[in-house]
Amino acid sequence: MKIAIASGKGGTGKTTLSTNLASYLAETNKVVLTDLDVEEPNSGLFLKSELIYSEDKYKMIPQWKESDCTLCGICQEACNYHAVIQIMDSIMVFPELCHSCYACSELCPTNALPMIPKKMGELKHYKTEQFHFVEARLSIGEEQAVPLIKQTLKYIDSNYGNDYLKIYDSPPGTSCPVIEATKEADFVILITEPTPFGLNDVILAIETMQELHKDFGIVINRYGIGNNDIVNYCHNNNIPILAKIPNDKEIAILYSKGELLYNSIPAVKAELEKIAQYISALSANYLPTQIPKNN
Ligand code: SF4
Ligand code: SF4
Repeated sequence: MKIAIASGKGGTGKTTLSTNLASYLAETNKVVLTDLDVEEPNSGLFLKSELIYSEDKYKMIPQWKESDCTLCGICQEACNYHAVIQIMDSIMVFPELCHSCYACSELCPTNALPMIPKKMGELKHYKTEQFHFVEARLSIGEEQAVPLIKQTLKYIDSNYGNDYLKIYDSPPGTSCPVIEATKEADFVILITEPTPFGLNDVILAIETMQELHKDFGIVINRYGIGNNDIVNYCHNNNIPILAKIPNDKEIAILYSKGELLYNSIPAVKAELEKIAQYISALSANYLPTQIPKNN
């Protein structure tokens, strides 16, 4: 079963929930946690882990061969992303804008735009005492998160079978990266906070998940601040609230030390258990309620 943890905006506790939930579920299940927030992965800050594998990740971009080019202009017309542009008698390629779709290269009548690999980031695979953890990080200056997310998900699928619970710490927002990170998930947990900003952004995330026809539920973080609008919104729209993580100064202290919460704060553990039970009930459609642990 694949569970994506997402949010309409950053700073709502997505990574806190991902790391604590992965660790809690790993007490009774085989778990792999993947940080797909490739522009700023930070799940690893909260995990004591050992690096067991790393690799550079590449995307394919066109390289202009001036000697073969007839300046016909077809490549510029073909590119939907303005990543290849004709300026006077030169063709300029902007790798940061390129989506590696191959259109310009394949439509070029003289093969003057062969595709070549360009490093876009790296993938690191760690092992904690309880579960596996994979992190992908974009290189500085790279703007395209989607190709790296795609390759990271491919790595997970080729290394972990259906006997693993796969948890994805997704990018924030509602744009292409979060869609790529959630589109294959069996269930999406949207985390928000009970404030007007939190409500506004989670509604956008809810609409995105509805557009993708995803099963999803809500976790309210910092419950106790703000107002009750998010609770009322969920009740009025039949959206399940899976858990309410309390607003607690001790949580902020542990967070600032880079520590997991649930072993120190019983109220957090109780809320994680509610999520675990919800997932367990859902997972009857995907796999046995508890997978024998043997990692
Ligand atoms: S399509 Fe090929 S030949 Fe035409 S301008 Fe582009 S690189 Fe040059
Ligand atoms: S590969 Fe696709 S996105 Fe990249 S420059 Fe060519 S047409 Fe544009």
